Amino acid sequence: MRKRFIAGNWKSNKTSDEARIWMDQVNIPASDATIVVCAPFTLLPILSSSKKQSTLSIQLGAQNLSPFAEGAYTGEVSARQIKEFAEWVIIGHSERRKYFGETDEILAQKVLRAKESGLKVIYCVPDDTTTVPGGVEVVAYEPVWAIGTGKTDTPENANSVVASIKSKTKVGMCIYGGSVTAENVKSFVSMDAIDGVLPGGASLDPGSFSKLIQEAISS
Ligand code: PEP
Repeated sequence: MRKRFIAGNWKSNKTSDEARIWMDQVNIPASDATIVVCAPFTLLPILSSSKKQSTLSIQLGAQNLSPFAEGAYTGEVSARQIKEFAEWVIIGHSERRKYFGETDEILAQKVLRAKESGLKVIYCVPDDTTTVPGGVEVVAYEPVWAIGTGKTDTPENANSVVASIKSKTKVGMCIYGGSVTAENVKSFVSMDAIDGVLPGGASLDPGSFSKLIQEAISS
């Protein structure tokens, strides 16, 4: 069976207490799937230390990083700072492109910074025509209209876009994101090209996220 990749994206949600409760309540069944939780910067140290005290098989990711190396860039968080607490970073999420004006050039800079510091990249694209910089480990196909709307792409169309991205970019792992839940995850991960999913809303509740993982790995 294919190795699954599931990355939860918390966006700008949760306080430190809520993050600790999530870690206490989430249930990650034993499997060879890679499970990542991409949390706000403020929560990464807390998640990292509670992960060390548990047996949870979960990896940590950030949702953004500075396009610059460290230095005089007020308010930015550098790849090297993230690497202290996390292994992964999401780059190119449509919310970053839309609300923060991140262009393909800026995103390519961010990928370079991530690679210099040894962070692995989940690179989000809205379709199969968007440039994917070299060196990324996972591409996430996320149609903009499906993010946070409760509307999903069809598994068949998502599969064909993912297959096209794989053949154009040669990235080994490609996942689908856009209103994925425990109820619909099987329909995506049972497709031959789709390696996993990127749930946003459904990763916030530990019970829903645990159920989603269970469904994904049992299909
Ligand atoms: C996302 O965070 O990229 C996402 C797809 O969110 P949701 O699952 O809530 O649509």
